[in-house]
Amino acid sequence: MSDEKENNNIIYSFKCPLCQQGIIDIVKNIYNVPDGDKMLILKFECNTCNFHKNDVIPLTTNMKPGIMTLQITNEEDLKSKIYRSPVGKLEIPELELTVEPGPRADFYYTNIEGILYRFESAVLIYRNNLDENDHEKSEIDELLDNLKKAMDGRFKFTLKITDTQGGSYIIPKNKSKYTFKKIEKIELE
Ligand SMILES: [Zn+2]
Repeated sequence: MSDEKENNNIIYSFKCPLCQQGIIDIVKNIYNVPDGDKMLILKFECNTCNFHKNDVIPLTTNMKPGIMTLQITNEEDLKSKIYRSPVGKLEIPELELTVEPGPRADFYYTNIEGILYRFESAVLIYRNNLDENDHEKSEIDELLDNLKKAMDGRFKFTLKITDTQGGSYIIPKNKSKYTFKKIEKIELE
């Protein structure tokens, strides 16, 4: 079997539950992450309506601790995939938003847009608990405004994951906007 065939297989097909007419093919695709690890990408795509979905599963565990950064400057960049392990710290410095690592932190796969939505709903909950004349409210509204702009690709920002044990990933849409800086063991001790 050639690499090509192994790499892009239709593994299952079924009738689309959405349009009831098209056929959805599940396509299996192995993606080689720049650092040599492999991700399994499952694509669900209807041939009639525009239903589609991607799932990303890591096949190998990246044990390299490091700092991953991605510059997001347009809408296309928002589709970059993220996998944050429980030890990964996720930050958007321009918006002062952080997901701290910890035993209760979720593993999650999403794209940049998904991260922005999670932040937005967390910020909205926080805002709703403030007093009507709390001075923080205008600051929060500005943050929400910037989050909206970011979701439309109109706010440039950096997504940074600091992973001291390894396991987190960024799969960039545009590789030139991605950097990985290895954390040397000595810096961890
Ligand atoms: Zn369909």
